[in-house]
Amino acid sequence: MEKYKLFINGEWTDGGLDTIEVKNPATGEIIATIPNGGSREAKLAADAAYEAFSEWSAFSVYERADLIRKWYDLINENIEDLAVTMTKEQGKPLKEARGEVAYANGFLSWYAEEGKRIYGETIPAIQRNKRLFVSKQPVGVVAVITPWNFPAAMITRKIAPALAAGCTVIIKPAELTPLTALKLAELAEKAGFPKGVLNIVTGEAKDIGEAWLADERVRKLTFTGSTAVGKQLMRGSADTVKKVSLELGGHAPAIVMEDADLDKAVEGVISSKFRNAGQTCVCSNRVYVQESIYQEFIDRLIPKVKELKVGDGLEEGTDIGPLINEKAVQKVQAHIDDAIKLGAKLEVGGTGNDLFMEPTVLSDIDDSMLCMQEETFGPVMPISSFKTVEEAIQRANDSIYGLAAYVFTENISRGIRVVEALEFGIVGLNDGLPSTPQAPFGGFKQSGLGREGGHFGIEEFLEVKYISLGL
Ligand code: ADP
Repeated sequence: MEKYKLFINGEWTDGGLDTIEVKNPATGEIIATIPNGGSREAKLAADAAYEAFSEWSAFSVYERADLIRKWYDLINENIEDLAVTMTKEQGKPLKEARGEVAYANGFLSWYAEEGKRIYGETIPAIQRNKRLFVSKQPVGVVAVITPWNFPAAMITRKIAPALAAGCTVIIKPAELTPLTALKLAELAEKAGFPKGVLNIVTGEAKDIGEAWLADERVRKLTFTGSTAVGKQLMRGSADTVKKVSLELGGHAPAIVMEDADLDKAVEGVISSKFRNAGQTCVCSNRVYVQESIYQEFIDRLIPKVKELKVGDGLEEGTDIGPLINEKAVQKVQAHIDDAIKLGAKLEVGGTGNDLFMEPTVLSDIDDSMLCMQEETFGPVMPISSFKTVEEAIQRANDSIYGLAAYVFTENISRGIRVVEALEFGIVGLNDGLPSTPQAPFGGFKQSGLGREGGHFGIEEFLEVKYISLGL
């Protein structure tokens, strides 16, 4: 069993701390320990990042890009090791873990280049004797708090633009999946980032979070996780007026219209729903199918769902791994039981074994059921029928969340009208997997603030400076 350490100011340390065990959700086996850091370690990391900021922000963007690119190359050489580590701590099938490492690395290559395009502006002045300029500069030290469902991508999606912009970072990965993050940091060290530019602290989430929130040197918080914790962190950022980016919960609708290509729609909702065993914030959580094709859609869907293989993610051919923990299983089972009790029809699945839940499809769903009210975060697909597109839009928008939505139709004019009416930050139109490093990811309403990815993503780490020159 490996004992991992914290990475603070370019040094690996166990800090003389007690430890937290990291378990493999597929086997229950303890695979490693991490230090149980707290406010002291959080402060040391913030000290280091603050100290490193003046040097790092003075590097040219080309020098920063070279280091990010070196890190990218090292990650590429270590995809298999990172993917196996991820599957062991998180549970997702190895093929998905490999895909996540490549996706995560995509943020490094993209932002290494995008940093070179942090352009300023000149503005025509009213007065003849003035010249007005705008430049952009890094916000400073950035606190990064990430969840367990994407142990690599949630980190690089935040820190690639932060580092490219010239910020230094202090990271707290999820306590359930810290190992991939620590391995990424080992590779960053090998790439040669100056000490203090990137720091990782594991341990007591609340203590670490509070230390960073209270620290006025930390100028930005970027968080992905639950809406409840996000709101808490947003409140906690108020006293020092930190910039905040929040990627919170979702409750994604998928609307299958009568003129959809049904095979495409079936494939789209399956990949959107069952990836990572349904544990993504952009997973289709509720599927609305137009009445005239409702039965046909279900008939085509069920055989495909039955083909999905549940098992240990390390085994070849596994499509759905274990859920992250017992609490997750209980929530998923409660959603299934509630729907059945209220009259839903169980088409396939419905139960599980240990942390392994069967892929489940429920039909005859109505909006009073729990699975239509809150995020399930598991492999359960509730299907409900609708009569008119207006009804589907109204039901899709009837949520406090607004992260991702999916629309399936071959009539692009109608499709675009539906997309425009949806109150969601991301819409997959005939596409079940819209996430990609070049495009903005983020939500409307209580799904969050700000965007990650694309040229939008780097703005979150930049301050605008206006310079008025009197001649
Ligand atoms: P999830 O339900 O996905 O686990 P959480 O919001 O609980 O979502 O966790 C996301 C991240 O936020 C994790 O790294 C977790 O340790 C961290 N976290 C949870 N509570 C707090 C808190 N009070 N302060 C700071 N970080 C927190």
